[in-house]
Amino acid sequence: MMDLTKIRAARPRFKRLRTKLSVLYAGLFVLALVLLAVVAQVMIGNHARDSVRAELTTSGSVYDRLWALRAQSLSSSADVLARDFGFRAAVASGDRPTIASALANLATRASVSAAYVVDNDGQVTGPSGALESAVASFPFVVPEGRNDAVVAVGGDVYRLVLSPVMAPTRIGWVVFAVRLDAAEMRALERLSSIPLIATMMQRDATGHWQATDRSIRSSRAIDALVERSLSGRALATLDLAAGRAFALAKPLAGTGRKPQAAILIRYPLDAALAPYLPLQGGIALAGLVGLLLVLFGSSRLARSIAKPIAALDTAAKALEQGSRVPAIVEGTDEIGRLAASFNRMAAGIVDRENRISHLAFHDPLTSLPNRIYFREALDQAISQVGRHGLAHGGGTVAVLCLDLDRFKGINDTLGHPIGDALLAAVGRRLADVAPDGLVARLGGDEYAIILSGPCEPDRPRALAQALLDALRDPVEAEDHLIATGISIGIAIGPADGDTADELLKNADLALYRAKEDGRGVFRFFEPALDAAARERHQVELDLRDAIRDGQFVLNYQPVFDLKANRIGGFEALLRWHHPTRGLVPPLAFIPIAEETGLIVAIGAWVLHEACREAVHWPDHVRVAVNVSPLQFRNAGFQAIVLQALANSGLSPDRLEIEITESIFLEGEAPVVALLHRLREMGIRVALDDFGTGYSSLSYLRSFPFDKIKIDRSFVTGVACDPSAAAIVRAIVDLATALHMETTAEGVEDIDQLERLRDEGCGNIQGYLFSRPVESQHIAGLLGRVMLKAA
Ligand code: C2E
Ligand code: MG
Ligand code: MG
Repeated sequence: MMDLTKIRAARPRFKRLRTKLSVLYAGLFVLALVLLAVVAQVMIGNHARDSVRAELTTSGSVYDRLWALRAQSLSSSADVLARDFGFRAAVASGDRPTIASALANLATRASVSAAYVVDNDGQVTGPSGALESAVASFPFVVPEGRNDAVVAVGGDVYRLVLSPVMAPTRIGWVVFAVRLDAAEMRALERLSSIPLIATMMQRDATGHWQATDRSIRSSRAIDALVERSLSGRALATLDLAAGRAFALAKPLAGTGRKPQAAILIRYPLDAALAPYLPLQGGIALAGLVGLLLVLFGSSRLARSIAKPIAALDTAAKALEQGSRVPAIVEGTDEIGRLAASFNRMAAGIVDRENRISHLAFHDPLTSLPNRIYFREALDQAISQVGRHGLAHGGGTVAVLCLDLDRFKGINDTLGHPIGDALLAAVGRRLADVAPDGLVARLGGDEYAIILSGPCEPDRPRALAQALLDALRDPVEAEDHLIATGISIGIAIGPADGDTADELLKNADLALYRAKEDGRGVFRFFEPALDAAARERHQVELDLRDAIRDGQFVLNYQPVFDLKANRIGGFEALLRWHHPTRGLVPPLAFIPIAEETGLIVAIGAWVLHEACREAVHWPDHVRVAVNVSPLQFRNAGFQAIVLQALANSGLSPDRLEIEITESIFLEGEAPVVALLHRLREMGIRVALDDFGTGYSSLSYLRSFPFDKIKIDRSFVTGVACDPSAAAIVRAIVDLATALHMETTAEGVEDIDQLERLRDEGCGNIQGYLFSRPVESQHIAGLLGRVMLKAA
């Protein structure tokens, strides 16, 4: 079977359209030219043949006449001799010398090769030789009515002419012999107007015809030509050693039926075509010039077609590789229009690509680079420092992580559109302050800046300070002037990390520390932060086990009602019995539980446990449970409280929840709403650690708390520090005015107690009365109703 792939592969392949078109045009032209040449050649050949045929035919006729004339002149010469009286007497008397001299004389005059006399007995008088015997028999064999014939003798051909010698009866014959040799042939040739070649042909012993002078070998074509010529005039084209020739044969009548000799008259094709050479040359030259013109023209045309296509190809390739090179094509034809469409399409693609990549790498809200862009830029900055840092005296990459303080509260209170406007405005301000850094928004209210370049230790610090200063002034967002602030964490690579992840993580740790240190500050990363973070992570893992394994217990600290002079309630305080660390104080794990959200589960357990315990206490004894902000904001909080009350059967008015001011930081309205709902259920609400926040008084306006717990920091100094005493007095007066109860926390000695009682504080809580105790000691405590000193 044929292998098609091989056939296809064998076809010429043109890489360039231009070559393809040029070759196609030139090929078509060459084909037309070849056809033209073939037709011209055939026509020239035909024309040449026709004219040669005519010429040969004419020559043949001329030759026939010449032949006849010659025969006439020979026979009249012979007749003249045969009638000569002296000669007849000499023949009659057999006077051989006279005959011979007369014959020789005649031969010269008539320019024949030899002359003979043959008597009636066949006796020959004349020059002796090979011809003699042929001449002797000639008068007896010559056909009736003819007096000449052509005979072949040896290698030569002779024309014999006969004339009878009468005295008065016939006594013999005069026979002339004319050798038809090369000279005879040349004489014949000279008679023609065209350069004919005449050759004497002779039939050899095998019956084939060949030239007497051996110039032409015998061939079937010649035999056939001579044969056809016997019956009429025939013309043929012969392939001879000397070249092709048109030929005509003239069989010469001999003594027998078949002629022994013939004349071949030929006309070489070269000679026949020679007159046409200038025409052929002209055609060839015109063809060549035409071909050159076509090659030139087609290559120009092909270029004019292929060039714009090549330009389009280049532009398309460039577009494929992401750059935009316009296809420059002139003209308004289809290709010009295609190029214009292509350029418009390319512009559209590049535009869209730019938009897509901008969207992919930028934050739509602030138009700042997003986290993906930031990560890549940081990777690049780090690798550049890695490559050039050491050689150029140590470059650095500083990463500043920034977090807006209290953003969530702003978002919740003023609404998302204003929150968004604030984020955008802050982004602009950051970019203004850090023109030489890459400012990005990583998400939410988190921003980050990369500072890379020469190692100037003060650069990040100066920038961080400038950023803090810039955000100290309120930011305008949708006609609102919003006072905000930022906290900044800084990590500097490669010292603080040689990968983007590590640098970001460490800058984040530093940010965490900045927030812990009171917000509105910047902090550099230190390895200790990392250790603390690891520790936090471990605690987080352990906390998950603690919930599952029941490692929590509640301790209860009595709250003593000074007016009723008895325990009015207990505050439930969480304790963690860690299997290896021992007792972990709440302040060491509650912030972590807050961060990780585990406080929700832990808080639920505390509520259930506290209610379950409190239900066994006397009716007037309440239980106070601390609720952290995250736990409070959790959507299921109200349900959890209800469940704890329902499960335990505790009356709602015996449950008091303690919240701190920080609960309001992230938005006041929803918190207040929930507080009202809890209050409607009968649950009491106490404001814990009062006085430590920034705007405590304003919160007192938002919600009618049942109780204010005066922070231990004021209680500690109440007996000895007049200003602390003044604050306590102010708080108590305020609470009284607002119909709220007060509890003083952390009462450790009698002086404090006395002073608090004097100031009108309603309840006290502290080591003076009792430390937090385990539940089994509650019954005992309830019995101890009186303070010794009171
Ligand atoms: P807090 O609500 O202000 O609780 C009072 C803290 O003061 C308790 O510390 C208590 O042991 C301590 N205290 C009481 N009397 C005195 C005293 O006379 N002198 C001194 N120096 N300290 C006294 P504790 O148990 O370590 O709790 C610390 C904080 O942990 C609590 O402060 C509360 O904010 C939080 N907390 C405790 N248990 C829970 C809980 O179940 N859930 C939540 N969310 N927070 C809790
Ligand atoms: Mg408390
Ligand atoms: Mg407290």
